[in-house]
Amino acid sequence: MIDNRLHLIYDTQLHMVECMFCRIVSGEIPADIVYRSSSVIGFRDIHPQAPVHVLLVPTRHIPSIIDVNACDEALFTEIQKSVCKLSSELHLENGFRVVVNHGPDGGQTVSHLHFHLLGKRQMSWPPG
Ligand code: 5GP
Ligand code: ZN
Repeated sequence: MIDNRLHLIYDTQLHMVECMFCRIVSGEIPADIVYRSSSVIGFRDIHPQAPVHVLLVPTRHIPSIIDVNACDEALFTEIQKSVCKLSSELHLENGFRVVVNHGPDGGQTVSHLHFHLLGKRQMSWPPG
């Protein structure tokens, strides 16, 4: 039990050292930050897929949407608040899309939970 817990702590710290988004959260890697609260930061995607493309990221390292646990129950409310604030500040009155990718089939390339906020162009359906 203790061994398992130590492994978990070690694993989390290792992720934080290696994870690109944790390094953006800590300020080690620069990013164009447009939103910050105690639990969420938002920064512009380095390869934008729309004129507005912001990534909303929990400040705590959570690998993916399926890893959100009871400790993070306020997270979705915080994400929703960030979407509301940014959609107003970035003038997305005409609409926008919020996307979460999970795993290889979902097209997830960064293993730190993030919500894509895309706007300022007409979105198509189904997504590619
Ligand atoms: P995913 O494919 O995992 O859903 O989305 C990851 C996103 O992170 C991609 O859209 C990619 O362009 C973006 N991204 C990857 N590395 C960086 C980085 O270092 N800085 C920023 N701002 N965006 C990144
Ligand atoms: Zn991380």
